[in-house]
Amino acid sequence: MTEGKHGDGQMAIGMIGEMRRQTIKRFQAPIDSLRLSISVSSFSSTLRRSPIDYDGDLAILHCLPPKQSYTIIDQLHLHQNASMAEHNLSTMTKPLNFYISSLQTCISVDHLHQLHAQILNSYFSNSVFLLTRLAHAYLKFGCPTVGQRFIISIIKNPPLFLWNETIKCYARKGCYRESIDLYYDMLRSGYKPNAFTFTFVLPACAGLKSVADGRRVHDDVLLFGCECNEFVITALIDLYGKCGELGVARQLFDEMPVKKTASCNALMAGLVLADKFDGALSLFNEMNNLGIKGDTMTMVSVLQSCASLGALQQGRWAHDHIIRTRMGINLYLGAALINMYARCGSIEEARQVFDKTPRKDIVTWTAIICGYGMHGLAHFSESLFLQMISNGLRPDAVTFVGVLTGFSHNGLVEKGWCYFHKMRDEFGVKPALEHYSCMVDMLGRAGQLKQAEELIRKMYVKPDSKIWGGLLNACKIHKNFKMAERVVPEILKLDPTNAGWHVLMANIYATSGKWDQVAKMRRNMKEKKLEKQPGWSLIEVTGQIHTFLAFDQSHKMSKEIYKYLEDIKEKMRVEGYVPELDVVFEKVDEETKEEMLFYHSERLAIAFGILSTSNGDVLRVMKNLRVCVDCHNVIKFISRIAYREIVVRDAKRFHHFKDGVCSCGDYW
Ligand SMILES: [Zn+2]
Ligand SMILES: [Zn+2]
Repeated sequence: MTEGKHGDGQMAIGMIGEMRRQTIKRFQAPIDSLRLSISVSSFSSTLRRSPIDYDGDLAILHCLPPKQSYTIIDQLHLHQNASMAEHNLSTMTKPLNFYISSLQTCISVDHLHQLHAQILNSYFSNSVFLLTRLAHAYLKFGCPTVGQRFIISIIKNPPLFLWNETIKCYARKGCYRESIDLYYDMLRSGYKPNAFTFTFVLPACAGLKSVADGRRVHDDVLLFGCECNEFVITALIDLYGKCGELGVARQLFDEMPVKKTASCNALMAGLVLADKFDGALSLFNEMNNLGIKGDTMTMVSVLQSCASLGALQQGRWAHDHIIRTRMGINLYLGAALINMYARCGSIEEARQVFDKTPRKDIVTWTAIICGYGMHGLAHFSESLFLQMISNGLRPDAVTFVGVLTGFSHNGLVEKGWCYFHKMRDEFGVKPALEHYSCMVDMLGRAGQLKQAEELIRKMYVKPDSKIWGGLLNACKIHKNFKMAERVVPEILKLDPTNAGWHVLMANIYATSGKWDQVAKMRRNMKEKKLEKQPGWSLIEVTGQIHTFLAFDQSHKMSKEIYKYLEDIKEKMRVEGYVPELDVVFEKVDEETKEEMLFYHSERLAIAFGILSTSNGDVLRVMKNLRVCVDCHNVIKFISRIAYREIVVRDAKRFHHFKDGVCSCGDYW
């Protein structure tokens, strides 16, 4: 506890002061109500007999419930007036409780500045108690730099609480480095951190993704004996999860004697962040087995995992779980549900959730607008956008990504430009990379390559490799090799180690028959040890995810799958199927080319789906890369021959195949 430092005219505290300090000490221990009332009354009686030690005495107020603290403040006020008269301090006009309640009810930083000035001119200008409250008020208004100034140069021996609050304030404002540095300053000043300190500084390390700082703080957690505090451990799990150190996060989690929702959520968020969606879903099962109740945060992670895996059945189960456990669907959970259904290919169910959401805000509207956008249903996304505006809501950057995606998938170039300009001029949303990416895709796909390149060169933000990649893809579709040769160096400057661009360029050369250039690109890849990202497809059957790579023979039903594909090949030929051998960019004979195409991962997944589900069931397949022209063609045939609706989500968009046609109109 801080030793009292008094201004002029104040006497030594003496024995009575010592008694009071004892009382305060007692308050630091856990208190029951009986001890509390005894202590308050003994505190009050000592007050009547001595001058006030504002720095020491008032610390008791931190420990008291508001009602008791006001009783004491009133007594202090009476005592203060008597003391002031005794010491001829007539300049002080306002009582202490005036400042305390003003600080509590203060509504703006300007008001706080006025109070600050008044306090500096008052009887309490040196009171650690009041200055601490003042600094805390600044922190509540999100002014960590002011808080830091109080700690460093205004308050002598500031309480640990103020250090903690300032560290927290920096972290909450996203000033992670400042938060961590202040923590180190605190250690250098000789303070011992407590569990609160760690729960505030660890999120700053996580925000900065600085595993080095995190480890240093982790050492301190052990040094200062906070390794059993569940909140600290949860913050550590969160830190390691966000830094991609999932092994450490998992170990800390496993070692927790009692696991609670918050620690499960922290680990789950780490798994989702690392694209370990399977792991996140099995953790959710683990939680259910352990009887740990999930909350809305848990379910947002679960739904996000289902959405990424395209696991519609598990997503539906999670939705049901939310309803059964009466969790209450808040705005974020509602949006996560809409997003899950849309990304799992069931835009109808996404719409049902949207329609049933009683209070819709921008997050809800944006979720459904983006859903329609990714399904290429531009008409719906635009009409919902207009409805949202007429309901008085303002679209944000993400809403525009949804609308522009829809236009891009439908080749609605004029509309795209109109909304692109509207976004900035009417709604003040500055175009970001994602918006440019939609525009470049849209222009490129529509064959307006020159306009697309011009737009990239005039962008407000620095284009990334993906934007140039969009243009390169358009060069491939429209066979513009000259532009492709111009674009490739731009991409390689930004992303030299990505094999995908090399492959794309090699394919472009192959299309124009420049085999020496193809060989050069391949050599280049070999020298740089770049490996092509393998294509894979997922399909969910009876709640279980099955993954297929191209030419995959590891599945237990492999034999049946290959047999099915052989059989359907014959039926397709009868119906007029001719393989698109142009998409094979290898210098091999036609038969090998056909062979190379026929076992692309999505075909294996679809064959497995047909063999293991009932007639009439919709098949939903997720693919990590874009679907190739030949697969697109084959899936159209299969949808007609097998009488199946097949939904494919590729890296770019959704394709709904039914009766031999695709919803994209072969435009993707
Ligand atoms: Zn393919
Ligand atoms: Zn399609």
